[in-house]
Formats: sequence, C-alpha cells, structure tokens
Amino acid sequence: MQINQDNQGRPSRIDSQAGSKRCARCGEIKPVSDFLRRTGKRSAKGSRRGTCRNCRAQLKKLEQTAAFPMGTDPSLEMPSREAAHSHFPTPEPLFKPQRRTTRALPSPLPVEGPDASVLRPNRQGKIRMRGRTDKGSRWHQEVDLELAVTLVKEHAAVVVNRHTIRRLYSNKAFRRYILARDRHTCFFCGGYGDTIDHLLPKAKGGHTTPMNCVCACNECNQSKADQRLEDFIGE
Ligand SMILES: [Zn+2]
Ligand SMILES: [Zn+2]
Repeated sequence: MQINQDNQGRPSRIDSQAGSKRCARCGEIKPVSDFLRRTGKRSAKGSRRGTCRNCRAQLKKLEQTAAFPMGTDPSLEMPSREAAHSHFPTPEPLFKPQRRTTRALPSPLPVEGPDASVLRPNRQGKIRMRGRTDKGSRWHQEVDLELAVTLVKEHAAVVVNRHTIRRLYSNKAFRRYILARDRHTCFFCGGYGDTIDHLLPKAKGGHTTPMNCVCACNECNQSKADQRLEDFIGE
C-alpha cells in the first residue's frame, strides 16, 4: 500500500504492516483492527474501510435517528424495522391544525459530526456524495462543493470525510420523514397533508432537504406551485 500525504503533510494511509491507520473521519490513528475489512467484489485483498468502527457506529446512529428523529411518531407510519426496535415518546404535535396564523418553520434535526467547512473538493472542484436507493443499494456521484455544503447545512447529508458526504435519506425515507415530522399537517393551511412541498421551489434553486421541505395538502401545494414562500403567503 502506498503512503499518501494529506495537505497537512500527515500520512493519510499507513502501511497495514505497521498495524495502524488514520481514520478519514475523526483523524485519529488507530490499530487496523479498528477498521472493518472491505468485502465488496471490487475490494483489494486486505483492504479496510477508511472510517474507524467508532465513526461508522456514529454515522449509523445518525442514519437511524434521521429515519425516525425525535419529535416524530413512528405509529403514524407503516411498521418498519427501526420502529420495531426502538421506542419514541409521543410528543406534543408540532403543528396543531390552524388557519394561517403562525408559521414556525420545523426545527431541523441536530446533526453531529464535522461541519461542512471541513470539505475540500478534488481538482475538478467536486465532492463525492454517497447514498442508498429506496431498495438499499449504494450509489455515488460527484457534486459541486457548493451543493455539498448546502446539503450538509440543511441536514440532508453528513460529512464522512473531507472529500465525501453521505446523503441521509433515500427518496422514500425522506418523504416518510417529512410527513411524520409534520404529522401529516399541511404547513400552509393546517389541514391533512400528504405531499412534500419545497419552500424555496426547486426551479428557484431550492433543494430537497429537511430545512427546505414541509408537508402540504394537495391544494396548497398546487396553488403555491413555483412561488417563493413570501410571495405565496403575501398574496
Ligand atoms: Zn474515526
Ligand atoms: Zn393546505
């Protein structure tokens, strides 16, 4: 295995013969036994994961809390593995049905881990983004640094290491999360809602993130269409 230097001159990979390796997420040097072996078909023999067991456990926990975060009630949803293995107290509803009076934005999930300022793009200016499809298979793509930073700041992704982020939700999981978080209550009229609305429309540069998306009823979603929130409310 070759020894690369990162841009602070630290070795980022250490020969496994030496028995230790630097974790790409927490930056600590740990025994190689703290890194899981890669098992994929394309993995080199003896290759190990870049993040330590501890960091992997943290990332996993983040994904689980993202699936059913605090303040949501899994009983609203189809039974799932996560729901079967954990208990969430039933909180006060986040949105009591009401006509257009107050419109507090849903508070975002606290996200642990490095913040977006640690991200460093490759020579093409890109950050690698990983995720899972609804069916659980892995995908990855390169995204611009700016998009990566937005996705992390808006709690749709977490930093894995300085070159990589991980999307927290598959499409279905995202929809399920927003509807549960908002208790199927339309953000605009307080009625029953089962659609996802982008506060800043995608056409105007908004992204599909917990901070930019709310539950909306069909009618409000249609009439809001591609308007900005302020324009819609101010009409
Ligand atoms: Zn680590
Ligand atoms: Zn509505």
